[in-house]
Amino acid sequence: MEVIRNYPIYLHALERMLVRLPEEHPKRQAVQDELAVTKAGYQGELEVDRHIRRTKLDSPVRVLTDLEIQVDEEHTIQIDTLILTTRGIWILEAKRIWGTLVYRENPRRLERRNDDGTILTMKCPMLQLETQIAAVREWLAQRDIHLPADGRVAFTYQNTWEGLPEGAPILPAREVPFYIAREYALSESCIDEEAFERVATMLTLERFRFNPYPLCIKFDVNPNELIRGWVCPACGKKMRRESERRVSCVPCKVAVKPDYGEVILDWLLLVRPTISNLQLRKFLGIQDKHAASRVLRMFELETDGESVNRVYRLNFMSDLDGVRLKRKGSGGAVVVRDAKVGARG
Ligand SMILES: [Zn+2]
Repeated sequence: MEVIRNYPIYLHALERMLVRLPEEHPKRQAVQDELAVTKAGYQGELEVDRHIRRTKLDSPVRVLTDLEIQVDEEHTIQIDTLILTTRGIWILEAKRIWGTLVYRENPRRLERRNDDGTILTMKCPMLQLETQIAAVREWLAQRDIHLPADGRVAFTYQNTWEGLPEGAPILPAREVPFYIAREYALSESCIDEEAFERVATMLTLERFRFNPYPLCIKFDVNPNELIRGWVCPACGKKMRRESERRVSCVPCKVAVKPDYGEVILDWLLLVRPTISNLQLRKFLGIQDKHAASRVLRMFELETDGESVNRVYRLNFMSDLDGVRLKRKGSGGAVVVRDAKVGARG
């Protein structure tokens, strides 16, 4: 099976936040902690992806990643990995937790006993999986699609368990290929290939609902405290803009071609959901309105308002190429990436 998983934009945003937060800033630790947790989650997903790639099915199958299913106006459920076939849907929730794990109820939770005797309490991943399965079943029912949905929590480390109830929906990540193959073999075909394609396309559009941006609000940081312009990769300080095509850090003897797309994306992820010509000029320390306008028009961004009131905003679905702003002329239409990759078998 083919799996395509982009580097998460949220992970990129957290990394950029750290680039722009000054060294002594009191919020650095909170951002670093969030980055560590998010990164560990992503690594778990990559590991489960490796096992999914080893799985072979003799029918149409699509592996959809990073979905966000809306259950009601206020709630979206994130699903890292969903395997769609004509016989059913299987959700995999990757967990990368080492050590001996103890399952506890009231409330349902996981505990890990650390070597030093302390106990780390975590949310119950089985409960999380149940919520995901329920959300997908509801999503299917609302659309009158008759397809069963189930799933497993895939643990990437070899854990020792205590208190685990019989039939708990977990499995070691390396058993993913057997799990999928067995479930598939035991199921009957429920939808035809045409319906399968339609469901795949519909599910692919279920993303980018989780919007934690701008991160300055999430982490309660005053945007004026961020380092503006271009940040020197060597010393982490603001570089000097020499011309439209060159920025430099004299002490570090670093000179580079400025990456305008990166700066605009930084602004949209960290500072505000929209950017105007004036805001870009202030952020970059440039005077020339026309130069700023040229820069903003280079990228696929949505616009609101006319002339001086014009603002540019990001459509996460269509304006990004991974973690980079798409340049104009590189294909501006909505790219339903996963749907175009006809992964079979
Ligand atoms: Zn420097």
